[in-house]
Amino acid sequence: MQPGNPSQNQLSSWKDAREALRNTPQAFKLVWQASKRHTLINFSLIPLIAVLPAAQSWVGKMIVDRILQAIKIGADVQAGLQLVLPFVLFEFALLLVSTLLNSFRSLSTNILRSLLTKHVNTLIIDKSINLDLQFYEDPVFYDDMQNARRRADSSALAIVTAISQVVQQFITLISLVFLLIGFSPWLAVVVILAAVPNFLSNSRFAEMSFRAVSHRAPESRLLSYIEMLLTSNETVKEIKLFGLGPALKKRYEDLFTQFIDEDTSIARRNTFASLAWGMLSNLAYYGSYIWVIIRTITQAITLGDMTMFLSVFRQSQHAVQTLLENFRMLYENNLYLDNLIDFLKIEPALHSPENGKIAPAPIEGGIRFENVSFKYPGSEKYVLKNVNLFIKPGESIALVGLNGAGKTTLIKLLTRLYDPTEGRITLDGTDLRDFDMKSLHQRFGVIFQDFVRYQFSVKENIGFGQIEDLDNQARIEVAADKGGASQLIADLPDGYETVLGRRWNRGHELSGGQWQKIALARAFMRKAEVLILDEPTSALDAQAEYEIFLRFRELMQGRIAVLISHRFSTVRMADRIVVLSEGRISELGSHEELMARNQAYAHLFNLQAEGYR
Ligand code: ADP
Repeated sequence: MQPGNPSQNQLSSWKDAREALRNTPQAFKLVWQASKRHTLINFSLIPLIAVLPAAQSWVGKMIVDRILQAIKIGADVQAGLQLVLPFVLFEFALLLVSTLLNSFRSLSTNILRSLLTKHVNTLIIDKSINLDLQFYEDPVFYDDMQNARRRADSSALAIVTAISQVVQQFITLISLVFLLIGFSPWLAVVVILAAVPNFLSNSRFAEMSFRAVSHRAPESRLLSYIEMLLTSNETVKEIKLFGLGPALKKRYEDLFTQFIDEDTSIARRNTFASLAWGMLSNLAYYGSYIWVIIRTITQAITLGDMTMFLSVFRQSQHAVQTLLENFRMLYENNLYLDNLIDFLKIEPALHSPENGKIAPAPIEGGIRFENVSFKYPGSEKYVLKNVNLFIKPGESIALVGLNGAGKTTLIKLLTRLYDPTEGRITLDGTDLRDFDMKSLHQRFGVIFQDFVRYQFSVKENIGFGQIEDLDNQARIEVAADKGGASQLIADLPDGYETVLGRRWNRGHELSGGQWQKIALARAFMRKAEVLILDEPTSALDAQAEYEIFLRFRELMQGRIAVLISHRFSTVRMADRIVVLSEGRISELGSHEELMARNQAYAHLFNLQAEGYR
């Protein structure tokens, strides 16, 4: 996600200007999609608001000239007022209209802002839902996602607001210049030129601050991670007892100070440059002012002309400044919108085929790994190598191996969270890649070791296993019973309605083992053909785990079960045991067969049994 033009720092050519505006059509599209009505309201008000300053300058002149006329002819109060009052009323009317239009516009802009925030965030969430696991496990992508979220909605609106300001100020300027040219064409030129350098310097600083923020994404992530470590209930025990608080706080402060230093240096340079260019504008203004005064004294123009002239001068200065400022905004926000547009362009790496087959239920032919090898995207190392494995319908398989052997990765491939780098996995003879992804995922009930502790009610925690049955209380209760959670739920203050976790005030926190029972119930909630448990019972005691698996086997009649566990008392219950070491299957067979072979499995089994004696 590189913004364009890294080599050039200034908008010095038309190409740069075009480049700076490149996302404008998309910004309009986003805003238009968010609300057609409010986009139209906003833009239809522009021409009306734009001509008000010129009208105000003109009516100001008329008031002064009429007063002078009244004085000159020695009119009494009534006659004088008759001359002047219509214009005062006209000015008042202009003020009312201006206030009304501006309020109306700002109301509409506020509504548009909310709608746009919703629209953009929904787009980001939709994209996130559709992207594969691999993106989430990739820190660079993760940064990109955070970058996309940052300022995305405000950028789109800022671009549209800036465009509408540019159009508005441009109309205002033309109308003012029309008035001004009548007096002195060269003053019109001075007015416009005085503000240009300011714009050029500003656009450069916009780019600098954008770069600072974007390139900081990894450090920003570190910053929020340290903050999380220091403030979360899950980490507090270790942080306290290891005395990590002050050291981590120092890291936090150092990083933050570095950010502040960068920002300050950019802001400081910006301030000095704006001051210098601001002085230039002021000199131009006062130079012209003196010239106008002289012309008035020599009666080359009237006092009303002078009033109008000063008003026009100020208004047009303001218009040019606003115009250029909005070009700068346009440029800056185009850069920010890059992040969003790039993010929305990312396509999932895993595709569900068009008209994919519906995954079979029940499974009749079994699951087959054929010469499966796998490395993670961006990594050179094979995590699995030439894995061949056939799982019969109704069979239960236990995966055993040291940490990092590739057990979880094998599960990720089986559930098509990743595709094999080489080889293929088939279900009833069909490659997993040929199944409709949604129907394939429906066949699996998986509880990972880092299962989610939804900070919602018990009912939802279990019902999420089969979202269509979220309101099917009977089914949820059966699942709870299978997961061994019934008693625990009966003891909770509000039973199935009890909100879990500490995130909310009324939340009820569970122990690790209790959470696992809830997660198991969720797995049992699913109408799955293949149930996969990746060490979800590690926080249960050996007895509880044993009982759950005993029941598990009973409940799995006719369906495939894959479980990962470090407890051999559980593992031995599986029909067959797969021993993985360094990504290869080193042993395969029933508990008795592997014990008889007396190799790694038997060795590990005896080691653990030793511990229980
Ligand atoms: P196990 O479940 O047997 O403990 P894993 O399947 O989790 O092992 O991991 C196998 C290997 O793959 C480990 O070396 C681990 O570092 C690596 N690995 C796991 N996830 C990723 C990932 N997202 N990107 C790169 N490497 C990974």
